[in-house]
Amino acid sequence: MVKFIFKECDVNIIMMGAPGAGKGTHAKEISKKYQIPHISTGDILRDEVKKSTKLGKTAKSYMDSGKLLPDDIIIEIIKYRLQRDDCKNGYLFDGFPRTIAQAEMLDTVSDPDFVIYLKCPDDLIIKRLTGRRITKDGKIYNIYFDPPPQGVEVYQRDDDKEETIRERLRVFYDTFSPIMDFYKKKDIFYEIKGDDDRDVVLEQIFRILDHNKT
Ligand code: ADP
Repeated sequence: MVKFIFKECDVNIIMMGAPGAGKGTHAKEISKKYQIPHISTGDILRDEVKKSTKLGKTAKSYMDSGKLLPDDIIIEIIKYRLQRDDCKNGYLFDGFPRTIAQAEMLDTVSDPDFVIYLKCPDDLIIKRLTGRRITKDGKIYNIYFDPPPQGVEVYQRDDDKEETIRERLRVFYDTFSPIMDFYKKKDIFYEIKGDDDRDVVLEQIFRILDHNKT
């Protein structure tokens, strides 16, 4: 029985989308349903920043200005992370790959099964990101759409300031098309409207994954 569940969950997924498209939110649900680790390079880096490690100190300056970290650093992080036991039945990447070099590297060590792209209009993204507030344990609220209850302590990510958001969006659109073409050629690229209600988006994602899983 346990073996059967493992087999059912053997799937490698990449979530793509501009900052604020909802990758992280949906990734948490997908990871729960298919019992695969949710690997967010942004979360890994933020954790390093919090712990003030050497990597964290390097990462902070890139992140605060909305720039990407150098590929060799990210590639190292991912190769190391993929060796952990929990990846043997699949993974869900959120925020990786973000450049064609990262996508090509992933190809040498693993075969992604699905690339889910959440497409979202820029004006909604700006509202989602400028309004985003997070609790210490990672619960996400939004001051416009889903305000935190009174008394709940929240903070704003340093890179969720409007100027940095615009730079993050620019960087995303600059690097996105070659990655999309790369995965379209492999026939594993699926585009979803990311501005629908959360449940509607999630249902569409599950439909794609459930209907195409081998
Ligand atoms: P978002 O998708 O909302 O921009 P993330 O949490 O995925 O947020 O990433 C935050 C920041 O971390 C990025 O702006 C970038 O500086 C860095 N980062 C995360 N993933 C990568 C990656 N794969 N390659 C390079 N830099 C990355």
